[in-house]
Amino acid sequence: MKRRQFIKTAAAAMVGSTLPGGALAVVSPHLFGVNRLGAKPRMKLTFFPYELQLRHVFTVATYSRSTTPDVQVELEFDGLVGYGEASMPPYLAAELGTKDSVCEFLGRAAKVLEECDDPTQLEDILERIDALDEGNAAGKAAVDIALHDLVGKMLGSPWYKIWGLNPAKTPDTTFTIGIDTPDVVRQKTRECADQFNILKVKLGRENDKEMIETIRSVTNLPIAIDANQGWTDRQYALDMIHWLHEHGIVMIEQPMPKEQIDDLAWVTEHSPLPVFADESIQRLKDVQRMKGVFSGINIKLMKCTGMREAWKMVNTARALDMKVMVGCMTETSCACSAAAQFSPAVDFADLDGNLLIANDRFTGMTVEKGKITLHDRPGIGVIRV
Ligand SMILES: [Mg+2]
Repeated sequence: MKRRQFIKTAAAAMVGSTLPGGALAVVSPHLFGVNRLGAKPRMKLTFFPYELQLRHVFTVATYSRSTTPDVQVELEFDGLVGYGEASMPPYLAAELGTKDSVCEFLGRAAKVLEECDDPTQLEDILERIDALDEGNAAGKAAVDIALHDLVGKMLGSPWYKIWGLNPAKTPDTTFTIGIDTPDVVRQKTRECADQFNILKVKLGRENDKEMIETIRSVTNLPIAIDANQGWTDRQYALDMIHWLHEHGIVMIEQPMPKEQIDDLAWVTEHSPLPVFADESIQRLKDVQRMKGVFSGINIKLMKCTGMREAWKMVNTARALDMKVMVGCMTETSCACSAAAQFSPAVDFADLDGNLLIANDRFTGMTVEKGKITLHDRPGIGVIRV
């Protein structure tokens, strides 16, 4: 064997043996670390604000809105582009950042990424990105998602395959019925009862029971409840959960304020339904202290800084014998498809954020007969529309 041919064969064998699962037949030239001209390519991050237009006015216990600030991100490396996104509902600005703070953060992140010549070193790169700032979790998530998309494209594989997950095991996604007048609620429920297998309702107001009874007058589909910290008395919260249990509700999210940890633990202990943490949890470091307080955790990419930390949270929760759900903000199919990659590993999914906006820039994971459906495209599996 001639020397040049030997080097080529040995390099291909070496890279092939390190691929996840060892099952990928095609070795991407992007993994060799040099481009066609023999120079080391660098990552280039670009970003721009993109206001999400909501299909319907969004109402929770404390406010209403019709748009969501968002920043779209592209990470280029050696001819490939990874897509990422930061979505920042205003009520979460302290954790997630604002449009301006995230853009400023991404400017600093771009400099760090420029210095990295090997995108596959996710752990090192994302550690440096995380260290740039205390807050701006959505900006960190945008970088993380774009980097995962890029690396998945370099490997030629979607992330659910890299993580070894079975795409047939994706859950149904909930679809949120917004708080409104009984007539509108009945109409909305009728519209989505044929398309979804589980509904989600935000409670925590005076008309909680009326809302459920209105939906029940139209459908018997299972319902997930998000109380958004709306109940402050633990006996009231438990009585409500028992009533909800009798009305076909299957899980409850954040029944009480995050500060009331002892009350939450008491409610969880006595609850006939699994109780999930949302406002009580942000990142990996929060998971362990929620053991005994909640039955499970809600993981959202924008809060937890992205896919890498989310996957660690899934596995930490499982090791603690806790349940897992995946949630989202109003966001495009970019961030929703990124979150969908680990959805085969969760108990409940609330990934309807892309269905709630009118100006999606991507197509990615889809919802077929109510079930999250993953496709074979590499990375986070999105294409621009
Ligand atoms: Mg919630």
